[in-house]
Amino acid sequence: MNNNSNKQKINVPRPNLSWLYIIIAGIIAFLYITSDEGGISKEITYTEFKDMVKKGYADKIIAYDNNSVEMFIKPENIVDVFKKDAPKAGKSPSVRVQVGSMDSLDKFLDEEQKNGNFTGSVRYEKDNDYFGVIFWNLLPIIFFVGLWIFIMRRMGGAGNAGGAGNVFNVGKSKAQLFEKGANRVTFKDVAGQTAAKQEVQEIVEFLKQPQKYTELGGKIPKGALLVGPPGTGKTLLAKAVAGEADVPFFSMSGSDFVEMFVGVGASRVRDLFRQAKEKAPCIIFIDEIDAVGRARGKNPNMGGNDERENTLNQLLTEMDGFGTNSGVIILAATNRADILDKALLRAGRFDRQIHVDLPDLNERKDVFKVHIRPLKLDDSVDIDLLARQTPGFSGADIANVCNEAALIAARHNKSSVSKDDFMAAIDRIVGGLEKKTKVMTAAEKRAIALHEAGHATISWFLEYANPLIKVTIVPRGRALGAAWYLPEERQITTKEQMLDEMCATLGGRAAEELFIKQISTGAMNDLERVTKQAYGMIAYAGMSEKLPNLCYYNNDEYSFSKPYSEHTAELIDSEVKQLIAEQYSRAKEILTLHKEGHNKLAELLIEKEVIFAEDVEAIFGKRPWASRSEEIMAESQVENEVKSIENKEENSNNESEKNNENEKSND
Ligand code: ADP
Ligand code: ZN
Repeated sequence: MNNNSNKQKINVPRPNLSWLYIIIAGIIAFLYITSDEGGISKEITYTEFKDMVKKGYADKIIAYDNNSVEMFIKPENIVDVFKKDAPKAGKSPSVRVQVGSMDSLDKFLDEEQKNGNFTGSVRYEKDNDYFGVIFWNLLPIIFFVGLWIFIMRRMGGAGNAGGAGNVFNVGKSKAQLFEKGANRVTFKDVAGQTAAKQEVQEIVEFLKQPQKYTELGGKIPKGALLVGPPGTGKTLLAKAVAGEADVPFFSMSGSDFVEMFVGVGASRVRDLFRQAKEKAPCIIFIDEIDAVGRARGKNPNMGGNDERENTLNQLLTEMDGFGTNSGVIILAATNRADILDKALLRAGRFDRQIHVDLPDLNERKDVFKVHIRPLKLDDSVDIDLLARQTPGFSGADIANVCNEAALIAARHNKSSVSKDDFMAAIDRIVGGLEKKTKVMTAAEKRAIALHEAGHATISWFLEYANPLIKVTIVPRGRALGAAWYLPEERQITTKEQMLDEMCATLGGRAAEELFIKQISTGAMNDLERVTKQAYGMIAYAGMSEKLPNLCYYNNDEYSFSKPYSEHTAELIDSEVKQLIAEQYSRAKEILTLHKEGHNKLAELLIEKEVIFAEDVEAIFGKRPWASRSEEIMAESQVENEVKSIENKEENSNNESEKNNENEKSND
């Protein structure tokens, strides 16, 4: 995130701790002063003491149980006792002496009283170590206050400004506020992401002219979810929405809500919404919402993270609580919408999902254009080449490349940044990225292209396969490439449709086997889907010849026994295997038949990274089932408006886990 903008801590009036210190110091001082009756005190010997009593200096005597005696001196004798210190003596100066035993002191004083030398009073008291008493009484309090301050500071976050003030700020949101007008980010600063921009454009309109929508009785959406890998510009896009609509922008990370103390997260959520309502219309941006929004535990007995759940519940309550038309719109970012709690995605909450993907070749060019604007370049720099050299880079990676290139040029005392500096910068960033497995080698890129072209080719030639919209080999989330189809809205599916779909899904692996002569984990997700589908067809839909019209669907989750015999189980297994094997060889046949076209398609993919239905048509000619596909072609022009599903391929489950971690740490 860009931190150098005009950020400003909210919660301006911070209660200060210093008054607490002052009160404590005051109490101590008060007790200290009242403990002494005023005046100096000096230590003397017992002999001197007896002498003074005999001379009649004693005013009153206090004997303590620790054998120490304090004798107050008569005012007229102060000079005799304290000599030159007398002026400093104060109201009631005293001398202190340590006596051997109280009995002998008693005897001595009785005698002197009888003699008339001592006319004052004698008082026996407990130990007079006031300061010690106070100290020992206060010590635990001081200790706990200290501990409390320490904990609260820790909770407030070490680097947080405000110091001791944080004690009273635990429950306050830590959101950064970007006031409107200042340092505006607009859509111009966000390169590429045309689809996402188009979708958030509507939110801008809502914020600018809410009455236009509310007058007609429409409800303004409360939230949208930006889904995409780190560094693709989700924060930037949210800021641009605020900038375009010219409204304030609150930014906070989901992890900021979560603290070790119960109730803190919920109160931060409350505080954030309270502040936002004051500033409405405005935008709240919650980065990494998965930190709070992860699906809640299903089983209450399993425990789970209560604090996180409280925070999530509070968030849901707040979202429901504020009026639809209050003018506060919440944008949240996540890398994984699939792990979010379903309640968050329900209507009236984050019911819109906007995909913010890694940029393709042309988009990368645009991102480069944005980020080389401030640099001084020489003629050797070719943006087209740079974009080609950076497959799999995110917007943030590209921003990084540009900055690194400038630094490298500066290090060599150049007056402008040249192509070589960019190449060195790319090498450096690739080195850093390698761990994230995002960057493809040329061979990988070719393999993915052949695989995706396999899906595309087969779906083109099968009547019932979903019509293709676009194919990309840009890594998307955890998927390596994707083919997008326009799913047909249908309530029932025929056997032919299912078989064609299976065949198209197997096309990726078939292409790998035929043209690379090497199969890879890239098809794992395809295989999983196909296997499940085949099992469903046979065990649930009764579509197999050997097990016709039987549905073994069991909706009792907790029953572990199968509703069929061992023999049937074997039959189901063999039927599933046979079904998949048939479709696989069908896929290979189709690919062999259209080998040239397939290879052309793959080459085109390698070059352009994204191809659309038109490109496929240019290679294979019109789709044999024209009428329907024509409709679709018309629609695919406005690709963003169609509801599309993607066909993801994952490396493997293990690897995707790893990827996910890496991406997190990258953020
Ligand atoms: P995210 O929130 O998705 O992790 P950010 O919005 O924080 O990513 O992006 C980090 C930086 O990367 C931005 O500040 C910007 O410099 C750069 N960046 C990312 N995507 C783009 C883009 N589409 N156009 C221009 N710059 C981008
Ligand atoms: Zn595939």
